[in-house]
Amino acid sequence: MSNQHFPHLFKPLDLGYTELANRALMGSMHTGLEEAKGGFERMARFYAERAEGGVGLIVTGGVAPDRNGWVSPFSIKLTTSRGVRQHSMITGAVHEANGKICMQILHAGRYGYHPLCVAPSAIKSPISKFKPRELSKRGIRRTINHFVRCAKLAKAAGYDGVEIMGSEGYLINEFLVTPTNKRTDEYGGSYENRMRFPIEIVDQVRKAVGPEFMIVYRLSMLDLIPNGSSWSEVVQLAERIEGVGATMINTGIGWHEARVPTIATMVPNGGFTWVTKRMMGQVGIPLITTNRINTPEIAEDVLANGHADMVSMARPFLADADFMKKALVGDSKRINTCIACNQACLDHIFQQKTASCLVNPRACRETEINTVVSSSPKRIAVIGAGPSGLSCSTELAKRGHQVDLFEASDAIGGQFRMACQIPGKEDFKETIRYYSQLIQDLGVNLLLNTKATKGNIVGKYDEVVISTGVNPRKIKIEGADNPIVLSYVDVLLHKKPVGQKVAIIGAGGIGFDVAEYLTKGTEEATTTEFLEEWGVDEAYNDRGGLLKAPKKVLPKREVTLMQRSEGKLGKKLGKTTGWIHRAAIRKMGVKTISGVEYVRIGSNHITYLDSYKTDLLSVDNIVICAGQEPNRLLADELSSLGQHVHIIGGAHEARELDAKQAIEDGVRLAIRL
Ligand code: NAP
Ligand code: SF4
Repeated sequence: MSNQHFPHLFKPLDLGYTELANRALMGSMHTGLEEAKGGFERMARFYAERAEGGVGLIVTGGVAPDRNGWVSPFSIKLTTSRGVRQHSMITGAVHEANGKICMQILHAGRYGYHPLCVAPSAIKSPISKFKPRELSKRGIRRTINHFVRCAKLAKAAGYDGVEIMGSEGYLINEFLVTPTNKRTDEYGGSYENRMRFPIEIVDQVRKAVGPEFMIVYRLSMLDLIPNGSSWSEVVQLAERIEGVGATMINTGIGWHEARVPTIATMVPNGGFTWVTKRMMGQVGIPLITTNRINTPEIAEDVLANGHADMVSMARPFLADADFMKKALVGDSKRINTCIACNQACLDHIFQQKTASCLVNPRACRETEINTVVSSSPKRIAVIGAGPSGLSCSTELAKRGHQVDLFEASDAIGGQFRMACQIPGKEDFKETIRYYSQLIQDLGVNLLLNTKATKGNIVGKYDEVVISTGVNPRKIKIEGADNPIVLSYVDVLLHKKPVGQKVAIIGAGGIGFDVAEYLTKGTEEATTTEFLEEWGVDEAYNDRGGLLKAPKKVLPKREVTLMQRSEGKLGKKLGKTTGWIHRAAIRKMGVKTISGVEYVRIGSNHITYLDSYKTDLLSVDNIVICAGQEPNRLLADELSSLGQHVHIIGGAHEARELDAKQAIEDGVRLAIRL
């Protein structure tokens, strides 16, 4: 019977010898558990929870077929029967939960961050410090054999199939295009030759694993690099990959070195599914689309509009293991939505840490963080309904405690109320919606417009949690009290008018956000606007799908972003998103000045010392984004009266605070109380 809420998403997919329960694929993600202590037990639990949550098919993080294919030194590979025993923990757990799982085989090629990396030609990638060794013809044959061995071992470990990673600029992709393949043998030169490597891999893997084993081929449908594949080459490759026995083709968008955001929060929802749509009808096997699909509504829309046969979502399953279970009964409002911030998933991986999720700190810590119902429920006051207060109060309520959540303003969300005003960060609203729903469901007593005071707190609760957040830092510059000076709160939350010429003092995450807000305005970009701004050609006229030049967007204001420290602005922004923010403000003509000493603010200017000379910048307004200080007034007052308090989030530590830490603080305290 068809699902009344999301009929396309819940339509089973018949693959002949097997059937997938629905059209959702949990896309491959490296979690860092692959190399962690006890990693296989932890991955077993991680994937099993997603299978229990009802996703149609899971693809694991990438597993190298040999040492040369490592993503980084000693990263996961599957080359022996010992590996088979370890992987069978994962497949056993997923099958017990009625799920299906494929293992991704990923050969990193020249993206391998180690000296053993190999490539079609010895050309270093712009994002790696290691120059790859050129594979000899024997080396190519050996690598193909290793793919085959890896697939056979995956089958022996009980996987339902493999995904062969042919996109994102890894080894297979490097064979396909001329900037990385300068070979003169039968694996280079003509497209026929450049395609040989992937075709031989899929062909030989199919022959080795037999017909009843899924082979998903992840095909780079849009390289987003100069001289990448042309559309006709992409189609040719898809046809040939189908011909040698792939079960499905998944979509890859952009090489890692591409200078176009493909999954970050400013990419419009479903902003790249048009690429897969172009391929529909060109091959007979099912096509999977991907990138920035994070709600069942978007997934349904994409499928209903014929953009693909199946949708891949990766990070949304970190944010909520039960995404599909909730969608099945039309309960989207209870889904914890991935906001595409990358802060706890990809950024962690780049820092060699285990991935988790900003909005769901339990992700990848399933064996460590668990909600246990309390045997002695308490009365608990949580003061402040920003990210830390929200996570703490709801987790406490799940455990059976009786919680009063005090919020002095008229709405929950704290700093997230401002974050969601930033162009491209609209999804941050979803976190507020999610917590708002949880508060109702769990019976947290939310007291809006209610200031907690010693009178209504002291002696009235078993535990008191202070999550009063932060106050914007006041700056000590002559003239800082001039009416032209605004704080980021005035601008983002109170919507105070801002003139045409603006200086921003402080170039941290919020300074960058405000610069984008003031230059771009508040209109959400359409897919076409986004693509044009970043130089992507929907018509796919040229190789790689790039426009000759990105479309110029006129900034709404003239903005100067300033900081006292020397060097490049935005150095501390997230690993995977910092470059996007830096590029975004460059596109909007934001002027940046570092190494300044602020001297004085006047009624229409700011003066500052820059390399030992005084400069004057004429402005209509100055917006202060100089970080925050903990708001601990109440905590100090209560403590002085002998009231024991727990302080979390920004109230505890404002320096380097982010929502990831705040939400995790809340959950970790709640499971202890
Ligand atoms: P922040 O990252 O600490 O940046 C504060 C900025 O203000 C710095 O550029 C600092 O630069 C300047 N500053 C500090 N004290 C000052 C003073 N007394 N006078 C003048 N300037 C001063 O704080 P934030 O931008 O408010 O961000 C808060 C947190 O939210 C951070 O953890 C951030 O990572 C996170 N966040 C991240 C993003 C993102 O990644 N896109 C977006 C929003 C927020 P100088 O000292 O060099 O002048
Ligand atoms: Fe999504 Fe951010 Fe969580 Fe990553 S950390 S899964 S991007 S919400």
